[in-house]
Amino acid sequence: MPGGLPDPEKYHYSLKLKAGERKIFRKKKPMRCSKWAERYRVVTMSSRPGAWRNATTPYLSGVMDASFFPSVETIIVCAAPQTGKSEAVNNCIGYAVDRRPGSALYIYPDEQTARENSKDRIADMILTSPQLKGYLTGADDDISFYRLNLRHMQIYMGWARSAARLANKPIPYVVFDEVDKYPITAGKKEASPIALGEKRTRTYRGFRKIWKFASPTIETGPVWTALCTEAQVVFVYLVRCPECMALQYMAFDEKHFKIPEGERDPSVIEAQNLAWYVCDVCGAKWDDDLRDEAVQNGEWRVGSVKDGAVVYQGPEVRGQKSDGGGQVSGVRCQGMKLNDYLHAYRPKKIGFHIPSWISHFVGLSEVMARFLKGTRDKTALKDFKNSDEAVPWIHYEVLRQEDAILALRDDRPRGRVPGGGVVAGLVAGVDTQDDGFWYRIRAFGYGGPELVKESWGVREGFVTTFEALEQILWADQYMDEDGNVYVMRMVIQDALGHRTSDVYKFCLKNRGRIFPSIGRQKMAQPHTWSNLEHFPGGFWVVNVNANYYKDELSTILEISPADPGAWHALAEFPEAYARHMTSEFINDKGVWECASGKENHLWDCAVLCLVAHDVLGMRFWPKGGGGQRSGTGDPQKRGVRSAGIGGERWMERRENWLKRGKGEMRW
Ligand SMILES: [Zn+2]
Repeated sequence: MPGGLPDPEKYHYSLKLKAGERKIFRKKKPMRCSKWAERYRVVTMSSRPGAWRNATTPYLSGVMDASFFPSVETIIVCAAPQTGKSEAVNNCIGYAVDRRPGSALYIYPDEQTARENSKDRIADMILTSPQLKGYLTGADDDISFYRLNLRHMQIYMGWARSAARLANKPIPYVVFDEVDKYPITAGKKEASPIALGEKRTRTYRGFRKIWKFASPTIETGPVWTALCTEAQVVFVYLVRCPECMALQYMAFDEKHFKIPEGERDPSVIEAQNLAWYVCDVCGAKWDDDLRDEAVQNGEWRVGSVKDGAVVYQGPEVRGQKSDGGGQVSGVRCQGMKLNDYLHAYRPKKIGFHIPSWISHFVGLSEVMARFLKGTRDKTALKDFKNSDEAVPWIHYEVLRQEDAILALRDDRPRGRVPGGGVVAGLVAGVDTQDDGFWYRIRAFGYGGPELVKESWGVREGFVTTFEALEQILWADQYMDEDGNVYVMRMVIQDALGHRTSDVYKFCLKNRGRIFPSIGRQKMAQPHTWSNLEHFPGGFWVVNVNANYYKDELSTILEISPADPGAWHALAEFPEAYARHMTSEFINDKGVWECASGKENHLWDCAVLCLVAHDVLGMRFWPKGGGGQRSGTGDPQKRGVRSAGIGGERWMERRENWLKRGKGEMRW
């Protein structure tokens, strides 16, 4: 056996063994992991302390037993909290200690969690089980925070940031605990803790076991990604109705999860335990006890995951599509029993999905209450998606949003400004890339008493040169259907990250018309100004509180096109562009973030348009204030010099302010 582990068979004949060692190497009757847990495992940190009982969390038996199926090397468990998943994996390590020795490594999200689990869970598991306790050497330092020394193997504790600790010894058992809470790997030099941990198992191909488990967070989070792209098959748990004995997938929807008519108050529902589940076949009403019974008689079947959701179609559709195997052919194998699948396909990497409502520790009314809270606020919805459905929450939002963006299209062709005197002026936002510029020109309406920010897309796209950009911003004409030409009030160009000095030069050349901007995370104000004094005459850069404007933009995008303040799009606004507008989401820290692999350029341009609108104070411009149209196609009369309280007035205020001194310019 590689890695310096003793070969039990060989040692048995060549050494005189002490009593403890004999215990280790004695031939044991084969036993499944779940059976072993019930016989030897004692649980202390649980609402049900005492001997491990598979009946409490019946679905975990399949997870434990499949983990030790010979072909299986990676076990991915995407589960709601309070489903017992961590304890199931601990059982697997306990089983390994007793039945299949080899050193183990736990990797927790952080050091604190590693220390806590080391003491409260792992050491506790060894000490409370008479069977496992015998493997301690009796030395004082058997148990430390970072390592448990057993007679025949070590259990190491690591955490995501302890990369150095992950780098050396080969290890056959690695447990990645709560992978979605791992810190995002900083920089290219730092390999991901998951990659480092997996590397340790290399020499144990064919013997190793790797567990990855967590409650999911976002679609691109580690556990959901592993479930969708790494697992060859995803198993879902079916339950059996205690009344009609029909096997079924327990779905969260209006048809199955019920509450009394007229009662929508989450706290009342939870306090009075008002929710129930309806059997899909006979309509029997399950309370928590009947639900537990249904789960106890349930079993794992092949399902699949798609578009951020779990799919179970039942065995009847099997065979309709015959391409591929495993999850790729999820349809073909849908409904196959866990054991049948393992024997038929001998997969290496398997996934399990566990929603909260099959857990004995979670009441149906609790689930329902969290769902109802989620209908009122996004954070609560995220909580429900992650912690009950055990699915990522973003995807639904994005799908909905993309359709919603396309629904904002009106009948205007490209370049056409809406007529009827509703438009106060044009602004543009430019997102700078290494190979060119994304731009977006929008027409904003007048401010009304409600200070709404109604706007219309006029033109957007990508150009590769500064010259092409100048052509689009200053030379091309933007007219309404009556031939009125509208002026460009202000352009804001992103200067952070890409080609900053080129952008500065370009903005200096177009001084007063284009302002460079720097997006910032931590700002009290929506925007502030910085003067770069090393440029002759000073040079103003607008600092943008990106999060503030992104919040605002997402709110505006939800306004129906028929209502005041809506965000209108051109008739031919393409779907690809709509995807830019739905590429970002609010992460756990409350900060907007671009989903990996997605383009967000026009979204950024839209933010800059809002900034320009704000800088100009356009929401205060009264209708009929003049200057909305130049009334002529003569380019000489266009640009920010046009009359009115728009660009020119703003430039005046800015100049006056510049004369007064330094500091922050506010509007
Ligand atoms: Zn039934």
